[in-house]
Amino acid sequence: MLRFVGGLVRPYRGTLLAILAAMLLETAMSLATPWPLKIILDNVVEDHKLAPWLRHLIGPLLDSGARLHVAALAAASFVIIALIGAVASYLDNYYTESVGQWVAHDLRVRTYHHLQRLSLGYYNTHETGTILSTITADIQTIQGFASSSTLDILVDLLTIVCMLGLMFWLNWDFTLIALAVTPFLLLFVSRFKKAVKKATHEVRKEQSEILAVVQQGLESMQVVKAFGQEQNQEDLLAGVSHATVAAALKARSIKSLLSPVVTITVALCTAVVLWRGAALILHGAMTIGELTVYLAYLAKFFKPVKDLATTTNAVAQAAVGAERIRTILDTNETIPEKPDGLAPETLGGAIEFKHVAFGYDSAVPILKDVSFKIEPGQFVGLVGPTGSGKSTILSLIPRFYDVQSGAVYVDGRDVRDYLLKPLRDQIGYVLQDTLLFHGTILENIAFGRPHASQEEVVAAARLAHADEFISRMPLGYQTMVGERGCTLSGGQRQRIGIARVMVRNSPILILDEPTAALDSESEKLVIDALERLMKGRTVIMIAHRLSTIRNADQIIVISGGMVAEHGTHDALMALHGVYASLHRTQFDAEPSRVRVESVLPVLGSGSV
Ligand code: ATP
Ligand code: MG
Repeated sequence: MLRFVGGLVRPYRGTLLAILAAMLLETAMSLATPWPLKIILDNVVEDHKLAPWLRHLIGPLLDSGARLHVAALAAASFVIIALIGAVASYLDNYYTESVGQWVAHDLRVRTYHHLQRLSLGYYNTHETGTILSTITADIQTIQGFASSSTLDILVDLLTIVCMLGLMFWLNWDFTLIALAVTPFLLLFVSRFKKAVKKATHEVRKEQSEILAVVQQGLESMQVVKAFGQEQNQEDLLAGVSHATVAAALKARSIKSLLSPVVTITVALCTAVVLWRGAALILHGAMTIGELTVYLAYLAKFFKPVKDLATTTNAVAQAAVGAERIRTILDTNETIPEKPDGLAPETLGGAIEFKHVAFGYDSAVPILKDVSFKIEPGQFVGLVGPTGSGKSTILSLIPRFYDVQSGAVYVDGRDVRDYLLKPLRDQIGYVLQDTLLFHGTILENIAFGRPHASQEEVVAAARLAHADEFISRMPLGYQTMVGERGCTLSGGQRQRIGIARVMVRNSPILILDEPTAALDSESEKLVIDALERLMKGRTVIMIAHRLSTIRNADQIIVISGGMVAEHGTHDALMALHGVYASLHRTQFDAEPSRVRVESVLPVLGSGSV
């Protein structure tokens, strides 16, 4: 943990040294504060013996009878001490915050950089809410720690040691009596620390629970409403919120103990000092000035003790935070890249699967032995029952996942021989459901090529038959789409997804049911658009509606984790196999759908 934080603050060690210097200066000034008063009380008002170091400074003045000059000097030094202390405190405050903020910044950027490189497999098994709370709340705790805690502890310890030293130097046996209760206080503080740590842990846990509940609830608002689960969601939140309040109050009830206990201890010590001090002064064994210094130090003495207790709390929090951040940073679930990987300018577009086996969980094979070959420029249809692994096959080409055995070749080279970015740059991917970002339609289409010109974006939208509905919108291409594109219909989203790929102009196109969300009218338009786009490119398209891929150069039928059959539509029909029977069911289903549709208006006027 210390090594980790040490590594984080290393770039700022110059600033840290300056902060340390400022803190030491602050401490020294705080120690010096009661001394001018002591000089006035003991040497100006009274006439006690001067300490040797003081004799050089003010001895001659006192001897010449200019006592008020000494008083003025002492008063002025009081102001100077306060001034130096104030400047040091300002610098300390500003620069500790600055180090904390920049460390948090570095850590956020580093963690997010790492998260961007983790494979999809990581996201399949980790909760977004937890990752979210790590990159926000946990980094926040590190910020608090990195900025001040370590140095605070050093300075606190130093202050205590210095004060004790000065107090013993002034009057050691008196100091022993005055501080007789401190061992009990220290015992209490160490017990206190443990209890606080445990309670804080509990609070953090409940807080991240709140985040998880709210995040899930807000993300699935439509489902919640559709199933009338609003009350349930509210109850869920109320439950975890209740638990947070309970945990926070418990933590507070423990934390609140510290201040009164310290106050009472201080009062006890002060009482002893006042009582014994008065006796000593009467016996001439102590000066009033010394007693003043004592009282001033006693009041200050317990602040570092208090601080020590709270900083250990910050240390405990930061330790928890650092652990959680490191579980992300230490995750190696990335798709490995060869250092001398290929970075082709353009690809021809030949794709081949050779005996590919793959499963998201290695114990559950999805693809058992998949082999097929696609020539550059071919249009290939991929069909098969739902859940048979079609989307999975496509995701192996841009290496979202790596095969478990066998290999995927692009242009005759194993995809693992390429660097990831150049490979993926050559592939246009229309996902089964198009995800849009909060932003304008223009930005969303240009997502895969941020520097595309407005003309290129509009041209792509025209090809995807998206321009019609976009230009009908009041703000056109500048229309904002909501989070995940929720202000657009499924079909509109899909067409934006296609436009997005068209802008990229890549030699390999992967389309996962691009027309699933479209009516047959728009489907015709989109297929027409795709056919324009397909020229000179390799296209693999998953389609449930077999009519979409009737003209494909090759149709690959997936079933049971293998390629069941492949060939052109006519060849497969002649085979009377899986494809032919799929085709028959769809063909038979069509008339029945027509029947249902013709009945619907009748129902609509009545009970539905
Ligand atoms: P559909 O036609 O419904 O889109 P598909 O043929 O595209 O189906 P895949 O999405 O490839 O099917 O899924 C194949 C199998 O892999 C399914 O059994 C599914 O449960 C499983 N699967 C899909 N995605 C994941 C994932 N991210 N993690 C674990 N298992 C997955
Ligand atoms: Mg699929």
